[in-house]
Amino acid sequence: MPHTLYRSGNLIIMVKLPKSHPRYLSLKTRELLVNGVEEGITSKAGLIAHGRGEMFDYLIGEETIEFAEKAERKAIAEMLEAENPVISVNGNVAALVPSGIVSLADRLDAKLEVNLFHRTEERIEKIEKKLIKNGAKKVYGKRAGAKIPGLDHDRALCAEEGIFSADVVLIPLEDGDRAKALKDMGKKTITIDLNPLSRTAKTADITIVDNLVRAVPNMMKFEPMYDDLDNDKNLRNTLDHMYNRLKHLSQEVRP
Ligand code: ATP
Ligand code: MG
Repeated sequence: MPHTLYRSGNLIIMVKLPKSHPRYLSLKTRELLVNGVEEGITSKAGLIAHGRGEMFDYLIGEETIEFAEKAERKAIAEMLEAENPVISVNGNVAALVPSGIVSLADRLDAKLEVNLFHRTEERIEKIEKKLIKNGAKKVYGKRAGAKIPGLDHDRALCAEEGIFSADVVLIPLEDGDRAKALKDMGKKTITIDLNPLSRTAKTADITIVDNLVRAVPNMMKFEPMYDDLDNDKNLRNTLDHMYNRLKHLSQEVRP
Protein backbone atom coordinates (compact mmCIF):
# COMPACT_ATOMS: atom_id res chain seq x y z
CA MET A 1 0.00 0.00 0.00
CA PRO A 2 1.49 3.40 -0.90
CA HIS A 3 2.04 5.69 2.01
CA THR A 4 3.45 9.10 2.49
CA LEU A 5 5.33 10.93 5.17
CA TYR A 6 4.15 14.31 6.28
CA ARG A 7 6.59 16.22 8.43
CA SER A 8 5.36 18.83 10.82
CA GLY A 9 8.20 20.08 12.98
CA ASN A 10 9.62 16.99 14.64
CA LEU A 11 6.41 15.10 14.15
CA ILE A 12 6.41 12.57 11.34
CA ILE A 13 3.03 11.28 10.34
CA MET A 14 2.66 8.19 8.17
CA VAL A 15 -0.45 8.38 6.06
CA LYS A 16 -1.56 5.29 4.22
CA LEU A 17 -3.53 5.71 1.06
CA PRO A 18 -6.03 2.92 0.61
CA LYS A 19 -6.64 2.14 -3.07
CA SER A 20 -10.36 2.16 -2.37
CA HIS A 21 -10.26 5.83 -1.44
CA PRO A 22 -12.44 7.73 -3.94
CA ARG A 23 -9.67 10.28 -4.45
CA TYR A 24 -6.87 7.72 -4.57
CA LEU A 25 -5.33 8.94 -7.83
CA SER A 26 -5.42 12.56 -6.81
CA LEU A 27 -3.87 11.74 -3.43
CA LYS A 28 -1.25 9.54 -5.04
CA THR A 29 -0.32 12.37 -7.40
CA ARG A 30 0.03 14.77 -4.46
CA GLU A 31 2.22 12.23 -2.72
CA LEU A 32 4.57 12.16 -5.71
CA LEU A 33 4.87 15.94 -5.59
CA VAL A 34 5.46 16.05 -1.83
CA ASN A 35 8.20 13.46 -2.34
CA GLY A 36 9.55 15.64 -5.17
CA VAL A 37 9.87 18.56 -2.75
CA GLU A 38 11.57 16.36 -0.17
CA GLU A 39 14.01 15.04 -2.77
CA GLY A 40 14.77 18.62 -3.77
CA ILE A 41 13.53 18.34 -7.35
CA THR A 42 10.21 20.17 -7.04
CA SER A 43 9.92 23.73 -5.73
CA LYS A 44 7.36 24.67 -3.10
CA ALA A 45 5.77 26.95 -5.68
CA GLY A 46 5.31 23.81 -7.80
CA LEU A 47 2.89 22.53 -5.16
CA ILE A 48 0.77 25.64 -5.54
CA ALA A 49 0.82 25.37 -9.32
CA HIS A 50 -0.39 21.80 -8.94
CA GLY A 51 -3.28 22.92 -6.74
CA ARG A 52 -4.41 25.33 -9.43
CA GLY A 53 -4.19 22.55 -11.99
CA GLU A 54 -6.23 20.18 -9.79
CA MET A 55 -8.99 22.72 -9.57
CA PHE A 56 -9.33 22.85 -13.35
CA ASP A 57 -9.12 19.07 -13.55
CA TYR A 58 -12.13 18.95 -11.23
CA LEU A 59 -14.07 21.17 -13.62
CA ILE A 60 -13.10 19.02 -16.60
CA GLY A 61 -14.18 15.83 -14.82
CA GLU A 62 -10.71 14.33 -14.23
CA GLU A 63 -10.64 12.61 -17.59
CA THR A 64 -9.13 13.17 -21.03
CA ILE A 65 -11.84 14.90 -23.02
CA GLU A 66 -12.04 14.63 -26.83
CA PHE A 67 -10.50 18.09 -27.35
CA ALA A 68 -7.47 17.12 -25.28
CA GLU A 69 -7.11 13.89 -27.21
CA LYS A 70 -7.17 15.83 -30.49
CA ALA A 71 -4.45 18.20 -29.24
CA GLU A 72 -2.37 15.27 -27.99
CA ARG A 73 -2.58 13.56 -31.39
CA LYS A 74 -1.71 16.78 -33.22
CA ALA A 75 1.19 17.38 -30.82
CA ILE A 76 2.63 13.94 -31.59
CA ALA A 77 2.50 14.70 -35.32
CA GLU A 78 4.20 18.10 -34.89
CA MET A 79 6.96 16.65 -32.74
CA LEU A 80 7.55 13.77 -35.16
CA GLU A 81 7.78 16.18 -38.10
CA ALA A 82 10.11 18.61 -36.30
CA GLU A 83 13.81 18.87 -37.04
CA ASN A 84 14.94 19.58 -33.52
CA PRO A 85 12.09 18.83 -31.11
CA VAL A 86 12.79 19.46 -27.43
CA ILE A 87 10.80 18.54 -24.33
CA SER A 88 11.21 20.93 -21.42
CA VAL A 89 11.26 19.27 -17.99
CA ASN A 90 10.58 21.10 -14.74
CA GLY A 91 10.29 19.94 -11.13
CA ASN A 92 6.62 18.94 -11.43
CA VAL A 93 7.21 16.92 -14.59
CA ALA A 94 10.20 15.14 -13.01
CA ALA A 95 8.18 14.29 -9.89
CA LEU A 96 5.00 13.14 -11.64
CA VAL A 97 6.09 11.39 -14.84
CA PRO A 98 9.85 10.75 -14.72
CA SER A 99 9.81 7.53 -16.71
CA GLY A 100 6.87 8.58 -18.92
CA ILE A 101 8.65 11.70 -20.14
CA VAL A 102 11.81 9.73 -20.98
CA SER A 103 9.78 7.18 -22.96
CA LEU A 104 7.95 9.99 -24.74
CA ALA A 105 11.23 11.64 -25.74
CA ASP A 106 12.30 8.27 -27.17
CA ARG A 107 9.10 7.84 -29.11
CA LEU A 108 9.24 11.36 -30.53
CA ASP A 109 13.00 11.34 -31.04
CA ALA A 110 13.11 14.53 -28.96
CA LYS A 111 15.76 15.98 -26.67
CA LEU A 112 15.08 16.46 -22.95
CA GLU A 113 16.08 19.75 -21.35
CA VAL A 114 15.73 20.67 -17.70
CA ASN A 115 14.27 24.12 -17.63
CA LEU A 116 13.32 25.63 -14.28
CA PHE A 117 11.36 28.71 -13.32
CA HIS A 118 13.18 28.80 -9.97
CA ARG A 119 16.56 27.79 -11.37
CA THR A 120 19.21 26.38 -9.06
CA GLU A 121 22.16 24.30 -10.23
CA GLU A 122 21.42 21.78 -7.49
CA ARG A 123 17.85 21.14 -8.63
CA ILE A 124 18.95 20.92 -12.25
CA GLU A 125 21.48 18.24 -11.34
CA LYS A 126 18.98 16.30 -9.26
CA ILE A 127 16.43 16.32 -12.06
CA GLU A 128 19.06 15.32 -14.61
CA LYS A 129 20.04 12.38 -12.37
CA LYS A 130 16.43 11.36 -11.94
CA LEU A 131 15.87 11.35 -15.71
CA ILE A 132 19.04 9.35 -16.30
CA LYS A 133 17.95 6.87 -13.63
CA ASN A 134 14.73 6.54 -15.61
CA GLY A 135 16.57 5.69 -18.82
CA ALA A 136 17.46 9.05 -20.41
CA LYS A 137 20.73 8.89 -22.35
CA LYS A 138 21.34 12.61 -22.55
CA VAL A 139 19.79 15.50 -20.68
CA TYR A 140 20.35 19.17 -21.63
CA GLY A 141 20.09 22.18 -19.36
CA LYS A 142 23.03 22.05 -16.99
CA ARG A 143 25.27 23.97 -19.33
CA ALA A 144 22.96 26.78 -20.35
CA GLY A 145 25.05 29.01 -22.59
CA ALA A 146 22.23 30.64 -24.53
CA LYS A 147 19.54 33.13 -23.61
CA ILE A 148 15.91 33.49 -24.63
CA PRO A 149 15.56 37.15 -25.65
CA GLY A 150 13.22 39.32 -23.61
CA LEU A 151 13.47 37.49 -20.28
CA ASP A 152 15.44 38.38 -17.18
CA HIS A 153 18.70 36.54 -16.54
CA ASP A 154 17.86 33.22 -14.82
CA ARG A 155 14.66 32.47 -16.65
CA ALA A 156 16.29 33.22 -19.98
CA LEU A 157 19.01 30.58 -19.68
CA CYS A 158 18.77 27.55 -21.94
CA ALA A 159 20.98 25.14 -23.85
CA GLU A 160 22.23 26.18 -27.26
CA GLU A 161 21.67 22.71 -28.77
CA GLY A 162 18.41 22.25 -26.89
CA ILE A 163 15.59 24.75 -26.42
CA PHE A 164 17.52 27.64 -27.98
CA SER A 165 17.80 25.98 -31.39
CA ALA A 166 14.60 23.89 -31.22
CA ASP A 167 11.96 24.38 -33.91
CA VAL A 168 9.22 22.71 -31.87
CA VAL A 169 9.13 22.74 -28.06
CA LEU A 170 6.88 20.80 -25.73
CA ILE A 171 6.58 22.98 -22.62
CA PRO A 172 4.37 21.34 -20.02
CA LEU A 173 3.28 23.60 -17.12
CA GLU A 174 5.18 26.57 -18.49
CA ASP A 175 5.10 30.14 -17.26
CA GLY A 176 3.17 32.53 -19.49
CA ASP A 177 6.05 34.95 -20.02
CA ARG A 178 8.46 32.30 -21.12
CA ALA A 179 5.88 30.64 -23.36
CA LYS A 180 5.42 33.96 -25.14
CA ALA A 181 9.17 34.60 -25.39
CA LEU A 182 9.69 31.18 -27.01
CA LYS A 183 6.92 31.86 -29.47
CA ASP A 184 8.43 35.27 -30.24
CA MET A 185 11.64 33.41 -31.19
CA GLY A 186 9.60 31.77 -33.96
CA LYS A 187 9.24 28.36 -32.36
CA LYS A 188 6.19 26.18 -32.52
CA THR A 189 5.04 25.75 -28.92
CA ILE A 190 3.01 22.90 -27.46
CA THR A 191 1.88 23.01 -23.87
CA ILE A 192 0.18 20.67 -21.44
CA ASP A 193 -1.78 22.91 -19.07
CA LEU A 194 -5.01 22.16 -17.22
CA ASN A 195 -5.95 25.84 -17.14
CA PRO A 196 -7.40 26.82 -20.53
CA LEU A 197 -7.38 30.44 -19.36
CA SER A 198 -3.66 30.71 -18.55
CA ARG A 199 -1.46 32.91 -20.69
CA THR A 200 0.52 29.83 -21.68
CA ALA A 201 -2.66 28.04 -22.84
CA LYS A 202 -3.65 31.05 -24.91
CA THR A 203 -0.18 31.64 -26.36
CA ALA A 204 0.72 28.10 -27.41
CA ASP A 205 0.20 26.80 -30.94
CA ILE A 206 -1.15 23.57 -29.49
CA THR A 207 -2.71 23.51 -26.03
CA ILE A 208 -3.34 20.18 -24.37
CA VAL A 209 -5.80 20.77 -21.55
CA ASP A 210 -5.25 17.54 -19.67
CA ASN A 211 -3.49 16.36 -16.55
CA LEU A 212 0.17 15.61 -17.13
CA VAL A 213 -0.33 12.19 -15.56
CA ARG A 214 -2.86 11.30 -18.28
CA ALA A 215 -1.44 13.31 -21.17
CA VAL A 216 2.02 11.72 -21.18
CA PRO A 217 0.79 8.06 -21.22
CA ASN A 218 -1.80 9.08 -23.86
CA MET A 219 0.93 10.53 -26.05
CA MET A 220 2.76 7.23 -25.81
CA LYS A 221 -0.13 5.28 -27.28
CA PHE A 222 -2.14 7.64 -29.53
CA GLU A 223 -1.67 7.78 -33.29
CA PRO A 224 -0.46 11.13 -34.71
CA MET A 225 -3.05 13.41 -36.31
CA TYR A 226 -1.85 15.19 -39.45
CA ASP A 227 -5.06 17.18 -40.09
CA ASP A 228 -5.11 20.86 -39.15
CA LEU A 229 -6.06 21.78 -35.60
CA ASP A 230 -7.74 25.10 -34.85
CA ASN A 231 -6.28 25.67 -31.37
CA ASP A 232 -8.56 28.61 -30.50
CA LYS A 233 -11.63 26.59 -31.41
CA ASN A 234 -10.32 23.66 -29.40
CA LEU A 235 -9.90 25.96 -26.38
CA ARG A 236 -13.41 27.35 -26.83
CA ASN A 237 -14.77 23.81 -26.97
CA THR A 238 -12.87 22.97 -23.79
CA LEU A 239 -14.35 25.96 -21.95
CA ASP A 240 -17.82 25.04 -23.27
CA HIS A 241 -17.30 21.53 -21.94
CA MET A 242 -16.58 22.97 -18.47
CA TYR A 243 -19.54 25.34 -18.72
CA ASN A 244 -21.98 22.62 -19.79
CA ARG A 245 -20.70 20.31 -17.12
CA LEU A 246 -21.15 22.94 -14.41
CA LYS A 247 -24.65 23.70 -15.68
CA HIS A 248 -25.50 20.03 -15.53
CA LEU A 249 -24.03 19.70 -12.04
CA SER A 250 -25.87 22.76 -10.80
CA GLN A 251 -29.15 21.09 -11.74
CA GLU A 252 -28.24 18.13 -9.58
CA VAL A 253 -27.93 20.31 -6.50
CA ARG A 254 -31.18 20.19 -4.56
CA PRO A 255 -32.94 23.55 -4.29
P1 ATP B 1 0.49 31.58 -16.92
O1 ATP B 1 1.84 31.99 -16.41
O2 ATP B 1 0.56 30.74 -18.15
O3 ATP B 1 -0.50 32.71 -17.04
P2 ATP B 1 -0.19 30.73 -14.27
O4 ATP B 1 0.68 31.84 -13.78
O5 ATP B 1 -1.64 30.73 -13.92
O6 ATP B 1 -0.10 30.58 -15.83
P3 ATP B 1 1.91 28.93 -13.63
O7 ATP B 1 2.15 28.67 -12.20
O8 ATP B 1 2.79 29.86 -14.37
O9 ATP B 1 0.38 29.35 -13.78
O10 ATP B 1 1.90 27.57 -14.44
C1 ATP B 1 1.42 26.39 -13.93
C2 ATP B 1 0.29 25.88 -14.80
O11 ATP B 1 0.35 24.47 -14.79
C3 ATP B 1 -1.08 26.25 -14.28
O12 ATP B 1 -1.83 26.85 -15.31
C4 ATP B 1 -1.74 24.94 -13.86
O13 ATP B 1 -3.10 24.92 -14.22
C5 ATP B 1 -0.96 23.92 -14.66
N1 ATP B 1 -0.83 22.60 -14.00
C6 ATP B 1 -0.45 22.33 -12.74
N2 ATP B 1 -0.40 21.00 -12.50
C7 ATP B 1 -0.72 20.39 -13.67
C8 ATP B 1 -0.81 19.03 -14.09
N3 ATP B 1 -0.57 18.02 -13.25
N4 ATP B 1 -1.14 18.78 -15.38
C9 ATP B 1 -1.36 19.79 -16.24
N5 ATP B 1 -1.30 21.10 -15.91
C10 ATP B 1 -0.97 21.40 -14.65
MG1 MG C 1 2.71 32.09 -14.50
